[in-house]
Amino acid sequence: MNEENHFILQNQEFPPGSSGLVRLQAGKLPSGNRISIFAYVFRSKNPGPTALFLGGMHGDEINGVEIIRRCISENYFTNLNCGNVIAIPLLNIFGFINFSRDVPDGKDVNRSFPGSMSGSLASRMARLITKKILPLVDFGVDFHTGGEALWNFPQLRFTPKHQEAKDLALKTNYEVVIEKAVVSKSLRKVARTMQIPILVFEGGESLRLEPFVVQKGQQIIRNLLINYNMITAPKPTAVISKIFRKTDWERAPESGMITYSRQAGSYVKEGEVLAVISDPFAQREVRMYASRAGFIIGNNNASVVNIGDGMFHIAYDDYKFVNSIRSK
Ligand SMILES: [Zn+2]
Repeated sequence: MNEENHFILQNQEFPPGSSGLVRLQAGKLPSGNRISIFAYVFRSKNPGPTALFLGGMHGDEINGVEIIRRCISENYFTNLNCGNVIAIPLLNIFGFINFSRDVPDGKDVNRSFPGSMSGSLASRMARLITKKILPLVDFGVDFHTGGEALWNFPQLRFTPKHQEAKDLALKTNYEVVIEKAVVSKSLRKVARTMQIPILVFEGGESLRLEPFVVQKGQQIIRNLLINYNMITAPKPTAVISKIFRKTDWERAPESGMITYSRQAGSYVKEGEVLAVISDPFAQREVRMYASRAGFIIGNNNASVVNIGDGMFHIAYDDYKFVNSIRSK
């Protein structure tokens, strides 16, 4: 898409072989502090695809921030054979310093796409990504985590009926892939309308850095760069990816204190005990059973739960896909 010489971001031109940091002004806080998006650009001397790696769209989802920060500091992008990388480690700086998912006006950037420059701060941030970044991008990964008490096993999600997104997911050589409908007004939705494959990575929970999750995220970025011949390294081992087409929540059958028997990252059979919920007065214990077989992709971490709370996120209806590593 972006051939040889013209790579312009925020009026700053990046010739082949150059790199740099661009600040995109999104708005101002009531205190007068400016809120910017910091985007790193890395260009190879040779033409090729442009990849976007984006973290911290939700400011408290710090595993994604760390994944991209490490890739930058470990020089993943500094000597590309071909193509370009745009790396945005932390989109929502306000959320990050405020330990919050949202921007100051309480809005969610990932529910504000395609956005507007006359809208709220969330909407402006979304607009900058839509208008300034996406037109330069051929593919990307948007890094997220679960919520405050929701732990996600590291997984990739792609948009149904978007073949390029599925191909991209398989190029990561990652084992746990979920076909998941796009959320309205999300980055993935607007990228779909622009025919740009964007994967969503989900791993761990908010406000917690986890080496295991960070390592998986880095591995995904590295495998993509290798499989697009953007960096030279031994081809990653072919793996059997499982693509799950459906997911469902197992909900708490009772309120009380919960003892978990299972956690995300493993298979469960129908009828297996997932957890035991007890009342504080030693009157009752209720077992929670799996209503279907599947792979647990996320689990609640709460110790006290209410009836109906989503406890286990189970993926099912899967098919296997052996990654064939294509080289040029
Ligand atoms: Zn998120």
